[in-house]
Amino acid sequence: MNLKILLLPGDGIGVEVTNAAADVLKAVAKTFGHTLDLSEGLLGGIAIHKTGVPLPEETKNLAMQADATLMGAVGLPEFDTAPPSQRPEAGLLGLRKALDVFANLRPVVTYPELIESSPLKNHVVSGTDMIIVRELTGGLYYGQPRGIGNNRGFNTMSYTRAEVERVTHMAFKLARNRRKKVTSVDKSNVLEVSQFWRQVVSEIGPQYPDVQLEHMLVDNAAMQMVLRPTQFDVMLTENTFGDILSDIGGILAGSIGMLPSASLGATKGLYEPVHGSAPDIAGQNKANPLGAIGSVAAMLEYTFGLVKEAQALNAAIGKVLASGRVTADLRPKGTPATTQEVGEAVGQALALTRVEAI
Ligand code: NAD
Repeated sequence: MNLKILLLPGDGIGVEVTNAAADVLKAVAKTFGHTLDLSEGLLGGIAIHKTGVPLPEETKNLAMQADATLMGAVGLPEFDTAPPSQRPEAGLLGLRKALDVFANLRPVVTYPELIESSPLKNHVVSGTDMIIVRELTGGLYYGQPRGIGNNRGFNTMSYTRAEVERVTHMAFKLARNRRKKVTSVDKSNVLEVSQFWRQVVSEIGPQYPDVQLEHMLVDNAAMQMVLRPTQFDVMLTENTFGDILSDIGGILAGSIGMLPSASLGATKGLYEPVHGSAPDIAGQNKANPLGAIGSVAAMLEYTFGLVKEAQALNAAIGKVLASGRVTADLRPKGTPATTQEVGEAVGQALALTRVEAI
């Protein structure tokens, strides 16, 4: 199969983890006999430096032409005080909107090999296997009106029925192939938009009689994620709530650097690790690339339907974790591996896994 993929390394460690993920993609193509048609574009702070805007038209066009896009991370400290529309992050928000990728899937799995890396007690995190489905192109991050003026700042959290319905169907369909439970997260005790969200989700629930639906307030959901994370299968959330809750996922998985994500719409897929550009470790070859590499596995499965390849890649990640050749954030016993070394180790493990399967 020909895999037409756009790489958007972005800023900070985004560049390093995307390089490692691209090497792994090449290993997948070589091992399984696929051809790669890779292109690269500008997004975020680097795009502002080179073109004046965080999402150049050319990048948008490249993304529309590609089968799938792999993004690293965006964000540079020098833009911290810039208005939201002129920050690197505006490029990512614009890209998500342009591709209409309305559902962001964030799997959170505690690998047995990483159980000591989580600051939570082993018996709490052991067996965690959940997926956060975050609405991605609506809610507080996009709502109008928004602005700063007359000594006040304001944003709007708003959802249409159609926006809630399509992401809810995505969550239920996923749950059908898992442990058949959806937990819808809202703040319906305070917010009208959440009451509406809960009403629409409840109307859709009966269409999936084999899936159990429960509702949970977002503050309780944050607490339950650290108290008893194994109770969750599919967690469905509004845009901002999902952004915040998925960082707790980093604690469950051992490091935020472990978490992959897939953003899906009707036709396009945008894949990115959950973490940001991590200015504190950027340029040091220290970043954990496994979130980006796990995003490649998600891409193989969701965009290209290459389930066997995705499983082999996830198995290769497991082998590298078991070998202890991991980056500093996972607190290895010996000398930490570099970003590049972890990417190479995954590529080697993949080739071996394939040989063993034959
Ligand atoms: P961050 O995720 O970049 O970093 C948080 C902490 O986690 C840091 O200590 C960092 O070193 C560590 N970390 C993150 N990824 C890691 C990895 N792969 N390996 C090892 N350690 C890792 O979040 P932040 O510091 O709040 O934000 C930094 C910048 O990134 C900001 O400009 C922010 O807006 C941006 N950001 C971008 C995205 C994105 O591109 N999707 C997401 C979140 C934040």
